[in-house]
Amino acid sequence: MSDDVRISFEFFPPKTAEGKAKLHKVREELQGFDPDFYSVTYGAGGTTRDTTKGVVKTLIEQGISAAPHLSFGGDDEAAVLSLLSEYKDAGVDRIVALRGDLPSGMGGHSQLVYANQLVSFIRKNFGDHFHLEVAAYPEIHPEAKSYSADINYLKGKFDAGANSAITQYFFNPDAYFHFLEQCHDAGIDAPIYPGIMPIINYRNLARFSDSCGAEIPRWLRKRLESFGDDNESLQAFGVDLVTELCDTLLENGAPGLHFYTMNQTNPTAQILKNLSGE
Ligand code: FAD
Repeated sequence: MSDDVRISFEFFPPKTAEGKAKLHKVREELQGFDPDFYSVTYGAGGTTRDTTKGVVKTLIEQGISAAPHLSFGGDDEAAVLSLLSEYKDAGVDRIVALRGDLPSGMGGHSQLVYANQLVSFIRKNFGDHFHLEVAAYPEIHPEAKSYSADINYLKGKFDAGANSAITQYFFNPDAYFHFLEQCHDAGIDAPIYPGIMPIINYRNLARFSDSCGAEIPRWLRKRLESFGDDNESLQAFGVDLVTELCDTLLENGAPGLHFYTMNQTNPTAQILKNLSGE
């Protein structure tokens, strides 16, 4: 794997002291892969405001580049401004700017603020201080009106000032490359980094994929189902499959890889070792 491939790792903020300690260990184990940055997710509706901030600040204090995910959720401009200022003061220079989804029960409370509006808001208040990442969907966002509408809204995020995008995960590389072509035709020339989901647990993956619109091809579902409760064999198969996916992506020009680590060292570490031929 060439040195100019951008590697990033995504964490979610742990809820318990045990989870925090585990994340610290995982971060140390992944550091050997020399990632460009770690990103830390943000609970819909701001539910993880303090824990996301806590993980990001700890990483920055350790001299490690960390990017909080951020969305308006149910917050007003003053609250988002204050959080962004706090991040800036703490040394954060990269944000993953999202619309997010409101948790059930908050639906009537507030309107979602589209990601392009958040990007504009950040640029208006902080100029070019932050590198802004946005989300992209090679298999199209589940609420999108059409394929081209979703690409045009992605273009809108770049026009508003985003620098690069990270995709939802996918298992079919053709979906990503077709998407890149369509983005290019729509005038998007910023880098779009593929999001990589290691296979850890079939039931969770199937449930999550159904809700976020990421397709598990039928043949793959059948293969994964066939492992039943044998998670060890499932994970070994998953490492080979995802290594091959990453290989195909990089060989065909993907500018980097963003791993949804699920706060676990493996399978991400094993996939990266395979990619470097270790
Ligand atoms: P947007 O880009 O705003 O798009 C949302 C939908 O609205 C799309 O269907 C789009 O076609 C449409 N649309 C976009 N702009 C407009 C507009 N101006 N007018 C009308 N329609 C529009 N969720 C979390 O809760 N926390 C996280 O930390 C998190 N991290 C993520 C990281 C990555 C890399 C990805 C890919 C997703 C992440 N998500 C996260 C999930 C994400 O929040 C959801 O997919 C959410 O539904 C959409 O967010 P978005 O920023 O893509 O929205």
